[in-house]
Amino acid sequence: MSDRESQKSLKTERLASQILLYKELYYLGRAAVSDEAYDALENELRHLDPNHPALNFVGYEMRESAQKVPHRPAMLSLAKTYEPDGLAEFAAGRPIVLSDKVDGMAMAVEFGFNHSMTRASTRGSGTLGEDVTAHVMHVLSIPKQLRFPDGWNDIRLEIRGEMYFPINEFSPFSERFDSYRNAVPGTFGRKEVDEAIDVLNVLKFRAYDFIAFRKSETETEGEVLSVRELSKLDIKNSCQTYFQKLKLLQTLGFETGLDEGTTRLIEVQNDLSNLQQIALSSFGLNRDHQIDGLVLRLNDELLFEALGATSHHPRGSLAFKQESESAVTEILAVETSIGRSGKMTFRAQVKPVQLSGAQISYATLHNAEFIRSGGYAEGALVRITRSGEVIPSIIGLEKAAAHPYVLPDCCPCGYPLTPTGPDLFCSRPELSCPYRDQESFLYFAQTLEIAGLSDKTVAKLREAGLLNTPADFFKLTVDDVLRLEGFARRSAENLVSSIQQKRKIPLAVFLAALGLKRGGIVKCREVASRFMTLEKVLSALPDELADERGWAGKSATDFVESLQSRRGWIRELLGFVTVEPDTSATEKLKFADHPLSGKNLCITGSLSQPREIYVRQLEQVGAKVAGAVTAKTNFLVCNEESGSAKYTQAKKLGIPVLTEEQLAEMLNR
Ligand SMILES: [Zn+2]
Repeated sequence: MSDRESQKSLKTERLASQILLYKELYYLGRAAVSDEAYDALENELRHLDPNHPALNFVGYEMRESAQKVPHRPAMLSLAKTYEPDGLAEFAAGRPIVLSDKVDGMAMAVEFGFNHSMTRASTRGSGTLGEDVTAHVMHVLSIPKQLRFPDGWNDIRLEIRGEMYFPINEFSPFSERFDSYRNAVPGTFGRKEVDEAIDVLNVLKFRAYDFIAFRKSETETEGEVLSVRELSKLDIKNSCQTYFQKLKLLQTLGFETGLDEGTTRLIEVQNDLSNLQQIALSSFGLNRDHQIDGLVLRLNDELLFEALGATSHHPRGSLAFKQESESAVTEILAVETSIGRSGKMTFRAQVKPVQLSGAQISYATLHNAEFIRSGGYAEGALVRITRSGEVIPSIIGLEKAAAHPYVLPDCCPCGYPLTPTGPDLFCSRPELSCPYRDQESFLYFAQTLEIAGLSDKTVAKLREAGLLNTPADFFKLTVDDVLRLEGFARRSAENLVSSIQQKRKIPLAVFLAALGLKRGGIVKCREVASRFMTLEKVLSALPDELADERGWAGKSATDFVESLQSRRGWIRELLGFVTVEPDTSATEKLKFADHPLSGKNLCITGSLSQPREIYVRQLEQVGAKVAGAVTAKTNFLVCNEESGSAKYTQAKKLGIPVLTEEQLAEMLNR
């Protein structure tokens, strides 16, 4: 597919995604646009692609609960090896295709005999998956209408591949998902597709195979074509090799890794004898996704077919994996805290241990269910690992503790904890649990970028009864702060003055600081630039907030409800602060010539201030912060040389490294 074609396809898919959202909203009785406007959109899509399946989709189809989809033939697993020696043995001198084992979610996307997408499903058990058609209709990177080569009459295709979150797109979603790994199953697990459209729109699909079916009198879905039959269809696009199949997928508009260079044909004898080195060096290639290994597949499709499969895996392919680094250490204590949502989080303080070039003292214990079922407690020996961006986590028990850990049944505020799924939540209503409030106040201070206000200080202010609503920050006097343990006059004065400097707050920051449900800074900025003033935001109705970018229904209602529940806070705050109307347009102009405007940065290692503070400042001057170092990265921010993947990658690509101090200097320019 040429660049122009893929641009056109993206435009078509974006339009189709919008139309589907409107159809669904209409079906739910919440029409978002006038009939005329809707018809105009449909006409535009019809003009771009008269057979687009979005035109025929009906509202209720998008609300149907997940149905089971049988996979024929089954979606098998892969045989795997951790031994580099095993690769040459597998290839035995035969040409192979080396590609990424993308760490995402395996899916099958089916196209009908008219070449329109008809259905998409998850891999599920391999023989039975779940219908996720309504979700996949919003994935812009998947073409919904294929343009087949000539001669492919009465043929339909089922494309198989891996749905994944591109790392560089993750930062605006980081407040919604713990990691880009969890974001994909989290999104496809949601029944309310309209709540997830913004995520679905950015997801990518790495196609790795297809199955062709021919129209049949006996089977409505058609009969599977053998390699020999398939290769006879068309000489130009003969599919006798796996590489030719991938090329065809690429022509049809699917991403295959061929463009990226991570999918490669290895057929020269010299390369085949160096297979081990080639594969090992592939792990270090630059990519915008997480991998959990590489895949080797015989290029000869006839041979692949002839070798067949066990009940578990095809014999003609092999996954090559690397053990992720892990270490064993002892749990010194299990610590709990209550988050802003009321959820209790658990982490283990561990005996310090070196792992992937960093000293680890804490690791996440995931959730209550994980602790209960795994027998984790003080004194237990556990295995911990660090993979990619994810904070260190406990992955297994090596030796049980003498005494089990007793899960708390109450929040520290005294209200019982109620289990929801694997988690425990404080049952006290929002805004009355002081432990939740503590997180809210800290979040408020961090969003306002009040310097010198740590979580410990917030806790002390709470204990001293000096902090009961966010407005209390502005009432603090030097004498108040001096009463707290650990403050000298100088530091107390600094704190009070840094609070007082924040009496003029831009609307978007003010909204974000309130910690509204669904109200991360990105969303608050959108709301602010649309409504301009606090007054208008406060009187907005959910319907007015729902927009075409996938923030419909429940999200808009959540936002408005939590805004209303904070009316008291807001009223009090307005006695101390001025909320500045949104001037994002002029703001952007102001920063257009900032040296960091339009630059891509990545941050790693420990900093003296929370990372979010820098992320916000960078975003304000028009810079982008990504989760991984790629060829597009302009600077890596890192205080010391380290063995971290980002640092190594930056060195390898020759990307300049800035210290925190240098960054601060550039930001202030
Ligand atoms: Zn509580």
